[in-house]
Amino acid sequence: MLTNDQLAAWDRDNFCHPSTHLGQFARGEAPQRIITGGKGVFIEDRDGNRFLDAFAGLYCVNVGYGRTEISDAIAEQARELAYYHAYAGHGSEASITLAKMVLDRAPDHMSKVYFGLSGSDANETNIKLIWYYNNILGRPAKKKIISRWRGYHGSGLMTGSLTGLELFHKKFDLPLSQVIHTEAPYYFRRPDPAMSEAAFTAHCVAELEALIAREGADTIAAFIGEPVLGTGGLVPPPEGYWPAIQAVLKQHDILLIADEVVTGFGRLGTMFGSDHYGMTPDFITIAKGLTSAYAPLSGSIISDRVWQVLEQGTDENGVMGHGWTYSAHPIGAAAGVANLRLIDTLGLVDNAGHVGALLTERMRAAIGDHPNVGEVRGEGMLCAVELVEDRAARRFLDPVGQMSGKVVAAMHRNGVIARAMPQGDIIGFAPPLCLDADEADQIVAVTARAITETFG
Ligand code: PLP
Repeated sequence: MLTNDQLAAWDRDNFCHPSTHLGQFARGEAPQRIITGGKGVFIEDRDGNRFLDAFAGLYCVNVGYGRTEISDAIAEQARELAYYHAYAGHGSEASITLAKMVLDRAPDHMSKVYFGLSGSDANETNIKLIWYYNNILGRPAKKKIISRWRGYHGSGLMTGSLTGLELFHKKFDLPLSQVIHTEAPYYFRRPDPAMSEAAFTAHCVAELEALIAREGADTIAAFIGEPVLGTGGLVPPPEGYWPAIQAVLKQHDILLIADEVVTGFGRLGTMFGSDHYGMTPDFITIAKGLTSAYAPLSGSIISDRVWQVLEQGTDENGVMGHGWTYSAHPIGAAAGVANLRLIDTLGLVDNAGHVGALLTERMRAAIGDHPNVGEVRGEGMLCAVELVEDRAARRFLDPVGQMSGKVVAAMHRNGVIARAMPQGDIIGFAPPLCLDADEADQIVAVTARAITETFG
């Protein structure tokens, strides 16, 4: 077995890590963590340290670590048929079964699912299919996509453009010209502190209407949004937001993509965030919770009205020129089938609702009055603590991002992993959906201690 020192040297010399400060890492100035195992909500590193993973990896290990039901299904699939493609009508029992299971759980008006590998590629698929859709309908100018500032939709060329976080654009020549951004539904950072939630929703709607008027509805194809803003700060929408936004989109014949990579399969205490907020999207993006990340797999769920046009398109133009070698990979599909069964048998959707509410409530009770805590917010098994310089004066921390990094580092030393979200001073929590009340209390206690230690 390699020693930790050998591995550490190879890591720094050879491995380009995603979302990492490359220089600091290569020079040995940034932390290096080698994870070796996990069980339930806990993971272990190579030095034998155990952590409660309150971010479920990257909000993806929804059923928790070490589920043999899924690893056995993967092993069996790998032995029987590790790979065959899905082009030209090919499939496996696992991929066909999973498509049915996904559609059985999705809102009624959804019709088919296209499988990819990552949330990013699923959103690329959505945009391509939307462009195709408008070309088939004879509307070649209707192509722009509206996204929100602080939205996160991936880090490819198109999806990095859709993402509304500066870090993902800077020096990458993004966003692409077909992408336009509108106001983030972020009530805590509303432009006027006196605004009610309803007034802030009206403000977001007015901003959207003004953008559509400026650009011209006949140039805009779709609007993409996460039911709850994720990487942009774990922000539930203000009161009445989704119905009001949908009314505007409908009026201008603009399609809606619900990016449910985080919220799909139970995280909000409902199977989909679309159910939670009464959304009727034309596309739903799924990934992470589809397999609980036991194998890479994503999907674009396509509504019936869009599907009809796609069929018309291939009747007129022949085979749809879109596909990946690994679309509907049998191993990912087998993991997905076992994972969705487990979510049902363990009652994890309900658990996410109950224990998630408890986590946010207890977090609020423990630290809600701290002078440097501006807000504790949450929905289902998502919770965020927003740190500020001065709560009463609504003054944000400057420079941004340092204190949240320190709090998260202090939590790590005390055995709990949380995430310093990339834009702002926000501590994010998205534990596995199997979290229990005692584990929620452990997260709260360690957070409270870290905040006290960091701010004094
Ligand atoms: N969409 C949302 C809402 C996400 O949170 C993410 C990843 O965090 C993505 C898309 C991109 O998924 P991936 O990292 O699998 O490409």
